[in-house]
Amino acid sequence: MDHAASTPLDPRVKDAMDEAAGLCGNPSSIHSFGRALRTRIDEAREQTACLLEVSSGELFFTSGATEGNTHAVRGFAKSVSLQYGRGRQLRILTSPVEHSSIRSALDAVQEDHDITVDHLPVDREGRVSADDLASMVTDDTFLVCVMWANNVSGTVQPVRELGNRLRDIRDSRGSGGLPLYFLCDAVQAVGTTSVLPNSIGADILTISGHKIYGPRGIGAIFMKKNARVAPLIPGGGQESGMRGGTENFTGIVGLGRAAEILKSERDKDAVHVRSLRQIFTEGLRSFGLRARVLSPEEGAVPGITFVHFPGNDSESLALKMDVGGVAVSTGSACDSGTRKSSSVIRIVYGDRVAGDGGLRFSFGRFTEGSDIERVLSVLKSAV
Ligand code: PMP
Repeated sequence: MDHAASTPLDPRVKDAMDEAAGLCGNPSSIHSFGRALRTRIDEAREQTACLLEVSSGELFFTSGATEGNTHAVRGFAKSVSLQYGRGRQLRILTSPVEHSSIRSALDAVQEDHDITVDHLPVDREGRVSADDLASMVTDDTFLVCVMWANNVSGTVQPVRELGNRLRDIRDSRGSGGLPLYFLCDAVQAVGTTSVLPNSIGADILTISGHKIYGPRGIGAIFMKKNARVAPLIPGGGQESGMRGGTENFTGIVGLGRAAEILKSERDKDAVHVRSLRQIFTEGLRSFGLRARVLSPEEGAVPGITFVHFPGNDSESLALKMDVGGVAVSTGSACDSGTRKSSSVIRIVYGDRVAGDGGLRFSFGRFTEGSDIERVLSVLKSAV
């Protein structure tokens, strides 16, 4: 029940990776070993670009979305502050519920380039509004970072409206003006939603392999053509100079295959997890559990459901469930230990929920209806 933390590897992806792992060579070599690997990388880039319906020249492989988000924020902030920063207080606008990879990168650019970070307000479901965005973008704002779907609540942001408003503001700035980019972290959306960067006007968008039944430690970043983003690791110029270092060949092949499968099965996956969520939320009632489902039924990705169990402690609930063989999360796995996840829960759901029993349940492609029955009975005894 913790697919939002990581999805299991699809066996078809594993097959592709096993084959790739057996190949020898460096994709940059000009001999036939190298060229064979380069061809497979190109193919994987094509498969991933096809999922997002972007040109393969606009897609770069990363070690995951943490790297992608960090690269986007730091690389763009660096370029813009070098070009426009003198005598000007540059600003970035974001939501207060972004993933820690965005939040940490924003902290870094505040410090490195003296950039001001403004936060949009959110409603009771953790959603920002396009009107607030339009009123909060100033003449000095050069980047807006808003995620597609939240990793704790599943809440989907009005990304298309945000992109439209940004386009209008950008147009009014004229061609020589300060750039205004839209960075969208689509990690939790892409598994069940058609994520097309061009349909929402995103300039940069990130995804991660291990949330779409692919491997961990690989991801991709879409950057529109000629995006002014400085490379994170110049190195030997791989990934068109955006990310040096010998490619994670096996991971890239795995991501490409995962993207290809997702493209053809995503609609089915979405219907499947939506029906699991219904069985689960109805089961909470029929099992007589005192629980409040906090994720919105409409306007959230179907795979993530955040539930409040008043009067319980979330960590002990999660541990009791683990003993019962059920993996759940108290928030975001990336933030456990830092307690940052509770800040997202606090912002969206308030102190009461942050203070006690909130659990995130997240379903996936291989979850079955019978699993949900078992989860509910373990949950009942845990509560
Ligand atoms: N953004 C979101 C919304 C996420 O849920 C995650 C994964 N927890 C990331 C970024 C980071 O992805 P990765 O694990 O590939 O670094």
